[in-house]
Amino acid sequence: MTVASTTTAPVSETDVLEVARERVLGGGVGLSEEQLVAVLRLPDERVPELLELAHSVRMTWCGPEVEVEGIVSLKTGGCPEDCHFCSQSGQFESPVRAVWLDIPELVEAAKQTAATGATEFCIVAAVRGPDDRLMRQVRDGIAAIQAAVEINVACSLGMLTQQQVDELAAMGVHRYNHNLEAARSYFPQVVTTHTWEERMDTCRMVREAGMELCCGGLVGMGESLEQRAELAAQLAALEPDEVPLNFLNPRPGTPFGELPVMDGTDALRTVAAFRLAMPRTILRYAGGREITLGDLGTRDGLTGGVNAVIVGNYLTTLGREPADDLALLSDLRMPVKELGKTL
Ligand code: SF4
Repeated sequence: MTVASTTTAPVSETDVLEVARERVLGGGVGLSEEQLVAVLRLPDERVPELLELAHSVRMTWCGPEVEVEGIVSLKTGGCPEDCHFCSQSGQFESPVRAVWLDIPELVEAAKQTAATGATEFCIVAAVRGPDDRLMRQVRDGIAAIQAAVEINVACSLGMLTQQQVDELAAMGVHRYNHNLEAARSYFPQVVTTHTWEERMDTCRMVREAGMELCCGGLVGMGESLEQRAELAAQLAALEPDEVPLNFLNPRPGTPFGELPVMDGTDALRTVAAFRLAMPRTILRYAGGREITLGDLGTRDGLTGGVNAVIVGNYLTTLGREPADDLALLSDLRMPVKELGKTL
């Protein structure tokens, strides 16, 4: 006896790109986790078609503008946490040692960032969460920046208490970055000193306080394709304003220091999958894109779903020259988002 199925055909029996064309491009609704796995399994010869679709989704639901951000490290290194990808952890033999920036240096960095045309300036500290000293530095730093430079200030200061969330919102912090880092099922292989749920708590408080939420993660850390899709789906469920996508840059001395650099085509497949998971979100190229993708891949990603970049250097590694990125955007006829439109 045969029983008629009332469910829709499994993804493997349909063409996931056809599904995406209708659901994501046509309707602005992201793909499900199962559909994202199918995207991540597409053969290499279908990657150009995938990137083209992801680009159309980005142009339709976000437009051609690219958001440019600069980041500065207020406190570098010596972090008590053990995120296995991070050379700023004080628990590993990586060569980054604790350094603090002073307020004039912070203002100078904000000025230089604004001069590139960037609209966001993110103050980052390598900490589990801010203590009183860091909160004071941040308060003084933001006041000095706001007095001297026209730019949105974002912060990335680790896990927050409700009181700290409220204080940052009151200081005028426009956006707060706190990444999920990895899929919930893979997180215990990446970090043991805090939990995925603790990270999620900070993300929720940030949202509820009215700050924009910037929340992304890293790929290429040994996770399975299913876990990569899981991360994209978990981020989509959180509906962040921005998703920074990092590719592991294996740093010597860290537990992930010996992992291979992610394959460039896999990285592009991931970029496109994240765009198909989150059609309306700012999707930012963050750390590791230079080593994973090089110049050519940077261009492919910008025409494959990405609509935001970090200019200049990352926290512990060098990035491309800002002028190179800005020339590339001009070449691609993608205007840099202006400050007035983000306020
Ligand atoms: S990722 Fe952040 S919390 Fe984790 S070790 Fe690095 S600086 Fe610390």
